[in-house]
Amino acid sequence: MKKRMTIVSVLNIFLFAFIAYNLILYHSTMMAKDKDMKYNKLTPEEEQVIIQKGTEAPFSGKYYNFTEKGTYTCKRCGAPLYRSADKFDSFCGWPSFDNEIPNAVKRQVDADGQRTEIICNNCGAHLGHVFIGEGFTPKNVRHCVNSISLNFVPTVAEEKIQNAYFAGGCFWGTEYYLQKAKGVKSTTVGYMGGSKANPTYKEVCEGNTGHVETVKVEFDPNETSFEELAKLFFEIHDPTQKNGQGPDIGEQYLSVIFYTNDEQKQISEKLLKILHDKDYKVDTRLIKADKFWKAEDYHQDYYQHNGKQPYCHFYTKRF
Ligand SMILES: [Zn+2]
Repeated sequence: MKKRMTIVSVLNIFLFAFIAYNLILYHSTMMAKDKDMKYNKLTPEEEQVIIQKGTEAPFSGKYYNFTEKGTYTCKRCGAPLYRSADKFDSFCGWPSFDNEIPNAVKRQVDADGQRTEIICNNCGAHLGHVFIGEGFTPKNVRHCVNSISLNFVPTVAEEKIQNAYFAGGCFWGTEYYLQKAKGVKSTTVGYMGGSKANPTYKEVCEGNTGHVETVKVEFDPNETSFEELAKLFFEIHDPTQKNGQGPDIGEQYLSVIFYTNDEQKQISEKLLKILHDKDYKVDTRLIKADKFWKAEDYHQDYYQHNGKQPYCHFYTKRF
């Protein structure tokens, strides 16, 4: 009786183990399937390299002779692997990198124990091999990667040049200072705020057009900001003068910021408040930018061409 119990127990253990084994097998198969479904579908050529650990023919890959700025990602799972800044030309026939994105690439010794294979740390896709001590770059590392294992995501184009419009008296003087500011790519003098189309200097001077002498500033937001330029604007003219600027009296010489968007408006309001808090009775108006009419050529870069100094614009620190 005791012996039979033992046989039954052993059988039960076997049966239990068998079921458990099958359950685990089933589960892992489903997991693998589930994982596979998340990956990009590969062509037979891609599979030959990425799954079967093959090597593409040298000088044949699309990223061998390729210098665009961006990020190289895993063809199979999309994980970012390398940056274009780390790519160098090793003349070996495959894309070469001397550094990887941190934790993106896993190293493992080849089956023959000779070379070090590199795989995607996220999905295990075969990338190529890594070599040390060849002296190509100061880092002394070469990730030799198959183009076919990679995709390329170009860097998003830098923020485009932005515009700002400032009116602070005679536009010769306003332009003189603004065009020297860091990050300013170009300046143009003209007229804004009035109703007359294609106004001439003479018409604006006569004062019936409603236009104000304005400087258009094109700037690179990666190098400066609207706020920096607006601060400078308040410091190169007297924003408290009510009827014009210096000896130039008239509507066309009033102090105005023509804002191009809500952000510029809010920044201008903030700066006006700071000046008011410092007891400046600022008369600068904030007006939504309208059509800018370029002034006659002889007004452009006036002081630069004449080698003279502005007579009514001076730098005064106010912020
Ligand atoms: Zn991957």
